[in-house]
Amino acid sequence: MGDAAKLKISIDCEQCIGDGICVSEAPATFELDDDQKARVLDGPSDELEDILTAARSCPLDIIQVQDAATGKTLYPG
Ligand code: SF4
Repeated sequence: MGDAAKLKISIDCEQCIGDGICVSEAPATFELDDDQKARVLDGPSDELEDILTAARSCPLDIIQVQDAATGKTLYPG
């Protein structure tokens, strides 16, 4: 299952330019919808480091990652 189930991942979809970088870095967590906007999959299942790499790689810096249990922000941070 990976770490993703323990995370709260959000994307400011309005700003997404649909380049798919997050999908490349964490394909079991992110996908592009029909409008070429990134969204979080139902039941994401990448490891934390891959998800953080995806968030860091986003050129618009619009991906946020939190620990779902504690609410601690893991990215940006
Ligand atoms: S990396 Fe950022 S801009 Fe690119 S598809 Fe993902 S959320 Fe959108």
